[in-house]
Amino acid sequence: MKIAVVGSGAMGSLFGALLAEAENEVWLNDVWAEHVHAINRNGLEIEREGKTRRVRIKAATDAREIGEAQLVIVFVKSTRTEAAAQVAGTLAGASGMVLTLQNGMGNADIIAGVVEPARVLAGTTSHGATLLGPGSIRHAGVGPTTIGVWNRAKEGFERAVRFADLFNRAGIACEAVEDVRGVVWNKLLINVGINAITALTSIKNGEILDLEVTRNLSRTAVEEAMDVAQAREISVRVDMVEHVLAVAEATAVNRSSMGQDVDNGRQTEIGAINGFIVREGCDLGLKTPVNQALTALIETLEKHY
Ligand code: NAD
Repeated sequence: MKIAVVGSGAMGSLFGALLAEAENEVWLNDVWAEHVHAINRNGLEIEREGKTRRVRIKAATDAREIGEAQLVIVFVKSTRTEAAAQVAGTLAGASGMVLTLQNGMGNADIIAGVVEPARVLAGTTSHGATLLGPGSIRHAGVGPTTIGVWNRAKEGFERAVRFADLFNRAGIACEAVEDVRGVVWNKLLINVGINAITALTSIKNGEILDLEVTRNLSRTAVEEAMDVAQAREISVRVDMVEHVLAVAEATAVNRSSMGQDVDNGRQTEIGAINGFIVREGCDLGLKTPVNQALTALIETLEKHY
């Protein structure tokens, strides 16, 4: 299958490479010219568990070089989804599918504003990757991927199954589900309860558990988000507060992605995580003071890098 990846940093390069190794025709697209040139010159270098391999894969800064693809995967940070969605729409042509596995909420809706909603797939992945430099990534963790058609169209499930099969053949364990919104919301709530708190305080995920004050912050942020989910008739786990703390414990030594963004003076995905909960709360007439404070503090940090 011909596949294009828009936003080929850590995760886009990883998924592109795994799909290319399974005999698909894959093109990586990224605005970072040095990275694209390095991949075209030397292949993509992937480090995993201390071993490094190189994957030959085509890359382009100008999407017009790529032509149309049957599957377009959007893997930019959520702050860049609007621009990436335009490119993805052109690459998908009249019949291609567009998949987002980005974190946060709002990405699939932005893409559905550009391509027909029935051609938008969304989901989550527990794979982890880190960008080491131009043309070089680390495959840091392996875990399940779940996908489904965003608009819950009846015929959508079969399409999702087809693309899940494609991923499974590439060694990316993937399940297709009929209603992917709950899956994306559950992941959102984990990020709501961990990311901003760790980013603001320089602590690792597991350190949220050390103090009552951080446990309570996480709990309240998640409870506010659960109220929003309920008002939107999205079913999330009833034990979400405990689940978020369990995830923090299971990933105790990790610095959250938002923490890493703040450490490196990069823009964060706050607007698609706690900021999304605040906007939804405003729409629904629900108060979200903890998410509001976390969002305002991260935005302040970003402005003062
Ligand atoms: P990244 O910063 O490594 O990669 C993003 C890439 O997008 C960069 O190379 C950037 O140059 C490129 N880009 C920016 N604007 C673009 C545009 N308009 N067109 C084309 N390319 C553009 O980010 P990442 O870590 O790969 O994360 C991508 C998404 O996946 C995020 O939503 C993140 O939360 C999510 N995610 C990441 C991980 C992880 O382990 N890194 C795991 C799960 C989900």
